[in-house]
Amino acid sequence: MREQKDYDLVIIGAGPSGSLASHQAALNNPELSIAIFEEHKQIGKPTHCSGLVALEGLRRLGINSAVIRKNLMVNEIKRAKFFAPNNNSFQIRRTKDSLIVLNRLELDQYLAVCSEKAGVHLHTDHHVKAMKFVDHRWHLFIKQRDHTQQFSSQILISAEGSRARLAQSIGMQIPDRNWLFPALQYEMSGLHDFETDCSELFFGNNFAPGFFGWFIPLSDESARIGIAVNPECSGRTRLYLDKFIRKHPVLNKRTKRGKVMNSYGGVVPASGPIKKTYSKQFFLVGDAAGQTKATTGGGVNIGGYCGRLAGKYASKILSGDYTAIQGCKTYQNQWKSHFEPDLSLMKYIRRMLSYLPDKLWNDLIEIARSTQISDYMESTNIDLHGRGLINYAVNPDVLVNGLRNSPHLLLSLIRGFLH
Ligand SMILES: Cc1cc2nc3c(=O)[nH]c(=O)nc-3n(C[C@H](O)[C@H](O)[C@H](O)COP(=O)(O)OP(=O)(O)OC[C@H]3O[C@@H](n4cnc5c(N)ncnc54)[C@H](O)[C@@H]3O)c2cc1C
Repeated sequence: MREQKDYDLVIIGAGPSGSLASHQAALNNPELSIAIFEEHKQIGKPTHCSGLVALEGLRRLGINSAVIRKNLMVNEIKRAKFFAPNNNSFQIRRTKDSLIVLNRLELDQYLAVCSEKAGVHLHTDHHVKAMKFVDHRWHLFIKQRDHTQQFSSQILISAEGSRARLAQSIGMQIPDRNWLFPALQYEMSGLHDFETDCSELFFGNNFAPGFFGWFIPLSDESARIGIAVNPECSGRTRLYLDKFIRKHPVLNKRTKRGKVMNSYGGVVPASGPIKKTYSKQFFLVGDAAGQTKATTGGGVNIGGYCGRLAGKYASKILSGDYTAIQGCKTYQNQWKSHFEPDLSLMKYIRRMLSYLPDKLWNDLIEIARSTQISDYMESTNIDLHGRGLINYAVNPDVLVNGLRNSPHLLLSLIRGFLH
């Protein structure tokens, strides 16, 4: 059978944002011809994610709780501990929305199958090399193995991930490369002496300069252990991770008899939301649009939600309910009204924290511990924690404590903010 070449809607990339966009469009209007092009042979591979997400945020993507618990969830996390370079720590217990650890491969494959069931044509092993807008349609040049074919589409959604090369090729603003943090993670087994319901974050320039290291339990003897570091350290990510595992005083005993089962690399996007996320009959979503939390690099829930919005408004344009420009602008207004204030705050918090010397990290963690940050954060929406953190920081108790105990901290944070 001859392969279909012309579609109403094409989505680039079958990550969570792309699959959810296509699924939503197909549900809204089953008459549309919709395709996703994914460069990898297998959806979700290679994996490059720790899979730690807020359960409530995942439900907001329309994923059924039973499916989450039965097929996607590996572990449930009730507490998070934050360690200073001197190993002082504080803990936040989640009272409302818990965190879960996902099998990210299963999530991506599940979402892609849902799209296929809704009628979306899924093309794996199809790398979109270039695209151009001619005569009111998008023309895509797509490489499959050793030959290139041309496809076309009335509307295009790019969910191509943080490097956003295609979006850049058509002159769109893309996530700032200076704020894409190289990351590496091992899945290890044979570990012992840790709490299975507690994820841990480790700050300090000795082990994870510019970002942090993490320990996310998968079971009572396995965990995902990773780091993200400043872009200037990109050639040394593995050295830093190995040092973190072998030498960090909290981890070294735990991991002594541990075995690395898998290793995943990637970039953690922390550049903040980009200004304009649409062009002619074109939507930008997910990591490519900076729809990620710059504080932690988490982007599954927010990017997925924005993907659904893009799918909804793309289908409304194609159904004749909106003109192209109205649909694109409404998408942008909607996602920005939901997420932009928090994502922008998180961007500034990331800038403040990435330049903090270890001595001031020690002060910051001590202030957070002694001013009961956990009381402020235990019931905040995890996906929108920017406002929660700022409310906590401008509390008079915290300001007075901070100025009394670490006058340099405030100056250093302001310097980071202005960076
Ligand atoms: C180490 C690490 C740990 C992370 N941990 C977490 C976490 O715990 N929680 C969380 O919420 N987020 C986490 N993230 C972030 C999360 O992975 C991303 O926010 C999320 O994957 C974004 O989804 P997306 O669909 O926008 O992009 P992606 O998942 O990157 O998907 C983009 C897809 O587009 C495809 N593609 C790209 N270019 C082309 C092309 N030219 N042609 C065809 N296909 C193309 C890619 O192959 C890919 O499949 C982590 C990231 C890293 C690197």
